[in-house]
Order: sequence, then structure tokens, then C-alpha cells
Amino acid sequence: MGISDLHMHSSASYDCFTSIWDMCERAAALGLEAVAFTEHVELNPEEFPRNPFDYHKARETWEKVQEAYRGTLVVLFGAEVTYWPHLEDEIGRYLEDHPFDIVMGSVHQAPVIDFWHERNARIVKANPGMAREALKVYLSHTEKLASSGLFDVVGHFGVYERRMPGIWPEIFGDEELEPLLISALEAIVQNSRLEVNAAVLHKPGHFPAPRVEVLKLYREMGGLPPVFGSDAHHAPAVGANWHMAREVVRQAGFSDFAHWSEVLNPNGPSYRAVQQGTLGKLS
Ligand SMILES: [Zn+2]
Ligand SMILES: [Zn+2]
Repeated sequence: MGISDLHMHSSASYDCFTSIWDMCERAAALGLEAVAFTEHVELNPEEFPRNPFDYHKARETWEKVQEAYRGTLVVLFGAEVTYWPHLEDEIGRYLEDHPFDIVMGSVHQAPVIDFWHERNARIVKANPGMAREALKVYLSHTEKLASSGLFDVVGHFGVYERRMPGIWPEIFGDEELEPLLISALEAIVQNSRLEVNAAVLHKPGHFPAPRVEVLKLYREMGGLPPVFGSDAHHAPAVGANWHMAREVVRQAGFSDFAHWSEVLNPNGPSYRAVQQGTLGKLS
């Protein structure tokens, strides 16, 4: 089975400035089998008064790219939807009207802490109670995300550690946090699957999202093989840390990542072509 990177962005995402063509050129040069562009879909008007993702424009470009790479690289059209429980109905309606090959759901915020800024680590360290509250929100929102049944993949579970590693309360053995983790994993096992996000795996002291202990528990609970995601926002990061991430997957007891064709959404634009064998080689 070849290497697939199923969590990448292009300039169709508000925080990425690399064209889909440049991302694919890199993926093809690396000899990847498949890539999925999981572009940011943001439906929270408090953060984004207007969703910054232009579905029709992105889809038009993607169709050209998929065609250009036919036989060389499978290019899939995906979304990384930021999940909020109060927006669940709206997200569901959006996804009905906007088909994707892979629908990833991600929790990107856990009020009361903005975990995307390293400088906030100081605040978290000084207020362990705050970190605990944020973690409770993160875990319960992830449980709701998975229970919604809207998502093929749960993105970067544990991402709060990405910019602030090692300063969060230990979940295992904690009376309050461990049950929330178990509930979230149960929902994921029943309705979705995990991504192993390797964005910062090469940095000392950093972890994959999720950590290997969580991935192991997920497997023991019956979880499906995870997918690999680099979360690349620029060409050099495409496929990055794949070998390290597969090591993590094996440590957790899986033999390998899921094959990209297993994760395809039946409503997505590529599903039928894959069933008919006209897109990619099923290895
Ligand atoms: Zn994300
Ligand atoms: Zn992402």
C-alpha cells in the first residue's frame, strides 16, 4: 500500500497560501498514492462573519487538478469543518448541499483557553483549573462531533497539545477526564475514525494527535484503522513525518493506516469513479 496524505490544505483555505498545483507537484514528486485537500470550512459567524471557503471555485479548480493527475496521483476533494455543538444543524445542512470526498470534523477551540498561541502556555501553567475546564470542553465537544454522524474522520484529536505540549492535566486515571475521553472514543468508534495528525511529530517534546496511548485504547474499543494527515499548509510539509506516524500506528496495535478508498464519502464527487475503477489503483 502506498503513502496517502489525507489532511492537507491549499490556497482555498483561509490560512494557506500555496496553490493546489504546487501541493500536488510535491506529492507526485514524493511518489504518494493519494492526497486529500481538507479545506477549512468555517460556519461560526462569531469567528468568521462569512465562511471563507468558496466551494464552487475550489471544486472547479480541484476537478482540473484531479484530471491532470489521473493515473499518477489520486487527488481528493475534502473539507475540514470546524465543529461547534450549537452549529451542528447548520453544518449538516451545509454538508448536504456541498458534497466532499472526505469530511473531517475538528474541534479547534476549547473556551476558556486559546490553545493556538504559545504565549498562553504561561496562563495555563499558572491556572491548572483553567486547563482542566478547557480539556473538559474539548473532550465533550469531540464526543458530540463524532455522535453527530456527520464526519468520516475526526481531525487531530488532542490538538490542544500542538502549541503547548506537556502542560495539560493527565487524562488517564483522572476521575473526571477519563470518562469524558472514553465517551469521546466510544462515539468515534461508532460513527467515524481517527486521523493521526503528524504536523509536529518531528519536534522534540511533541506528540502525535492523538497520542499513542489514546490510539491504542481506541483500537481496543474496536476503532477502525486511522488515516494519516500531515496537515500541510505549504509544499515541503506534504507527507511529512509519515514514517514516524506509521510507527505510532503500529505501536498502538494497528498493522497500517486505512487505505484512502475505505474512507471515501458515498456522497462525494469521486466515490462512483473509484467504485468503477476509473480513479486510482486499488492496491
Ligand atoms: Zn485543524
Ligand atoms: Zn488542517
